[in-house]
Amino acid sequence: MKTINTVTGTVTTDKLGTTLMHEHLLVGWAGWELDCKAPRFDRKTALKRAVERLKELKDLGLSTFLDPCPNDIGRDVVFMAEVADASGVNIICTTGLYKEDLGNTVYMKQRSADEIADIYTAELTEGIGETGIKAALIKCATGKDRITEYEEKCLRAAARASKRTGAPITTHTDDGTMGREQLDIFESEGVDLRKVIIGHSCGSADLRYHTDMLDRGCYLGFDRFGLEFLQPDRLRLAALIGLLGIGFERQIVLSHDSVACVLGRGLGLSPEIMETIRNWEPTHIFKHILPALRNAGVPEEKINTMMVENPRRYFEQ
Ligand SMILES: [Zn+2]
Repeated sequence: MKTINTVTGTVTTDKLGTTLMHEHLLVGWAGWELDCKAPRFDRKTALKRAVERLKELKDLGLSTFLDPCPNDIGRDVVFMAEVADASGVNIICTTGLYKEDLGNTVYMKQRSADEIADIYTAELTEGIGETGIKAALIKCATGKDRITEYEEKCLRAAARASKRTGAPITTHTDDGTMGREQLDIFESEGVDLRKVIIGHSCGSADLRYHTDMLDRGCYLGFDRFGLEFLQPDRLRLAALIGLLGIGFERQIVLSHDSVACVLGRGLGLSPEIMETIRNWEPTHIFKHILPALRNAGVPEEKINTMMVENPRRYFEQ
């Protein structure tokens, strides 16, 4: 058992319970606040909506909600704390920077890996700004098919802050690429890979890609259920069921990467695409994905391992 930070104080890992490891309350692409023509952010309405979402999840058995929003795309830990207070669900936040093409990189590009590691360490141990709210883990991100120099610097900073503080790392990958290369960078910095979740790994259905990473001890995030236009759920499920069938349930976590409120003008998805993502809600796993796993013969014990035990062990290792 270990004590970890949530946005409303510390909690022991045995109290985490059923956990969604990658969901968002607010996301705003870098620069959204400069757009005076965008719909105004109505905090009260957004708060009400987020609380309703979390209460619905709580009724489905959820105890903990991890929002890995990096510092540069609209992270608002006070908002998270208000939602946690009102809903009774634990919310965990991260420190970190997003991938280069969608991050707010100009200032951070001028910082060294060690300067960034110092920022991450401070947010993990002292708090975020003046809020006193501390992050519990570190977020990193890479784009498709390559890791830019900037992204590599941020990954190295995450590795160094993780080694200093013991905090685990969670990542973003695009289209199921670069997970292995992310692990190479963490490994070269001496990170224990059991402290790493390679996020959005369900963006690939290549089982070789998955087992290459699992054999190195990390966790894989099957954490974009419902985002059909990026990868159909049936392929995410086929890969997941295959990996569960050969005994990897202790290294997989499930989530949706859902977003309760998008700041600025929204995600910019076409009506046709919006039509395909009707299930992209944080309740989808409870309502549809877990039943599909049970239908495929996945035992309750393995579901519990992914939803409860893995999040706890990830923070304890
Ligand atoms: Zn995300």
